[in-house]
Amino acid sequence: QNLINQIAAGEVIERPVSVVKELVENALDAGATRITIEIADGGKQLIKVSDNGCGMDAEDLAKCVVRHATSKIKTPEDLFRITTMGFRGEALPSIASVSNMRIISKPQGSAQPYACCLHLQDSAVDRSEKVSAPEGTTVIVQDLFASVPARLKFLKSAETEKSHIRDYLGKLMLSRADVAYTFISDGETALATQGGLAIDPELALRNAIGAVYGSRAAKSLRKVNLVLQDFAVSGYVSDPAVVTGSRSGQVFFVNNRYIISPLLNKAVDAAVSDLVYGGKYPYAVLFIRIAYEQVDVNVHPAKREVRFAESNKVFEAVRAAVRQAYHSYQE
Ligand code: ADP
Ligand code: MG
Repeated sequence: QNLINQIAAGEVIERPVSVVKELVENALDAGATRITIEIADGGKQLIKVSDNGCGMDAEDLAKCVVRHATSKIKTPEDLFRITTMGFRGEALPSIASVSNMRIISKPQGSAQPYACCLHLQDSAVDRSEKVSAPEGTTVIVQDLFASVPARLKFLKSAETEKSHIRDYLGKLMLSRADVAYTFISDGETALATQGGLAIDPELALRNAIGAVYGSRAAKSLRKVNLVLQDFAVSGYVSDPAVVTGSRSGQVFFVNNRYIISPLLNKAVDAAVSDLVYGGKYPYAVLFIRIAYEQVDVNVHPAKREVRFAESNKVFEAVRAAVRQAYHSYQE
């Protein structure tokens, strides 16, 4: 059983950021509004994700580490229409097969004064105990790949693994700005956002942009908003004076999925071509809503690239939307 889990892990758990991604997505699926991600040594030694989501009782907890024990597929139709982000009940057993794992959980509104803590060894439950913990879930992953030398060998320096995690979390902070995140690396807070979509979604997003790209970018934001028939683009671009030497400050989400898009980079370039010169790029955090049949997400296996059915129209609309944001600013 552990071998099967290790094989599954081989497909999805490549490096520390893969673990972070699976655990954070579970926390979001659980309805968390506050998620803390803590790592040590780039995640090689420790990855700890705590959430204030729905939590699990002792019975759910015992089940969640069994392969394919997802709680997210209730009918066969769900298989074809997976709305949650998790893949089907493999993440926890897969991670557990290549690490030492502990899960502490307490369901919301639990009548019990204690939480349940499960210790796993080689993806099997080693023991469980009652502990004191708040409502929600904490998953602690230690010594990732310690038992899989071939994998361990391929990990890069702690600094590199940390930067992969930071990149992933930065994008998530922007796409799910409603949630408050804290990212702690070797005891120091590396990134933190306040969440709070319920209060003001625009403010939550501007705060998240400030947390990820710094206060200079956040202070210069111009609102982008263009709504067409079955297409919309919204978000922010920075002032033409607040630019960077790379495109790393330009991120795009299509139907809330982070994508890499040279087409959209060029659309932003075209919008600012008379305002920004010489290899400089404004910050841009843009959300594109488009009919699902207008976009093909299966271009790249990791689904980081998409193909638009009418790429010229998309290009023009994004260019016009960004252009408009600068115009309303100049007036
Ligand atoms: P999947 O996300 O595809 O269902 P996972 O292996 O990631 O598979 O998780 C298995 C199950 O464990 C989930 O379906 C969910 O019921 C439960 N679970 C995992 N993480 C959490 C969490 N942070 N809060 C509440 N329940 C969780
Ligand atoms: Mg999952």
